[in-house]
Amino acid sequence: MSVETALKEVEQRIVAACQRVGRNPDEVTLIAVSKTKPIPVLQEAYDAGARCFGENKVQEIIDKYPHFPEASWHMIGHLQTNKVKYLVGRASMIHSVDSFHLAQAIEKECAKADCVMPVLVQVNVAEEESKFGVSVDETEALIRQIAVLPHVKVQGLMTIAPFVENAEENRGIFSNLYKLFLDISQKNIDNIAMNVLSMGMSGDFEVAIEEGATMVRVGTSIFGARDYR
Ligand SMILES: *Cc1c(COP(=O)(O)O)cnc(C)c1O
Repeated sequence: MSVETALKEVEQRIVAACQRVGRNPDEVTLIAVSKTKPIPVLQEAYDAGARCFGENKVQEIIDKYPHFPEASWHMIGHLQTNKVKYLVGRASMIHSVDSFHLAQAIEKECAKADCVMPVLVQVNVAEEESKFGVSVDETEALIRQIAVLPHVKVQGLMTIAPFVENAEENRGIFSNLYKLFLDISQKNIDNIAMNVLSMGMSGDFEVAIEEGATMVRVGTSIFGARDYR
C-alpha cells in the first residue's frame, strides 16, 4: 500500500471514530510518526497532505526539519536536557516533559531565544516501569511547578499506553487520562492550558479518540513497519 493510501485510510478511521462518539473530526490532529523513515517517504506523506510529523530523536528532527520547514514537528520521545537547545526554533511542541528539571532546561533555552515552547506533560498512566512519565498522582504538582516558567506553556497531557493485542484493553488508560485532563482543566491554573490530549498510536488510536484524544500519534499504520537495523 502506498503512503498516500495508508494516510487516507487512517484519516478515514479518525473520522469514523469521531462519528461513533459524536465528536467533530476537526478536534483531532493526526501526527504522522516518521521516526527512522527517510525524506522521500516523508515527502510522500507531505504530498498527500500530512503537515504534522512526530519524531522521538532530536537528531532526526535536526536532519528532517530543513526539508519540510512548513510542517510542524512534534518531539514525542524522551528528551535529555542537553539536547533541548536543538529543538528551539524547530519543534512546535514537546510531548514528553516529565520532570521539572527538563522544564527548567526548556525555560532557559527559550528565554535565550525569546520564544515560548508549547509542551505536554507525559503521564505514565499504566505505571509501566519501562516507560517515562510522571504518575497520575504527581501530574498536577508538576504542572503547578511548570506554570511559573514564562517561556514554557503547558498545553495538555500525553501518554504512551502499553502495547496490547486488543485495543480495548487500553480504553481504561485513555479514559483515566481524560479524567485527569478534565480535572486539571477545571482548576484554572494560571499560564496552563488544557486543550491537547495526545494519546493513541497505530494499534489503539480509534479507542483513544473515542475516549477524548485530540492528537493521535500514528507511525506504522501510515509508513509501514520500522526497520531498526
Ligand atoms: C513510535 C511512537 C509512536 C507511533 O507508534 P506506531 O505504533 O508505529 O503508530 C507514537 N508515540 C510515540 C511516543 C512513539 O515513540
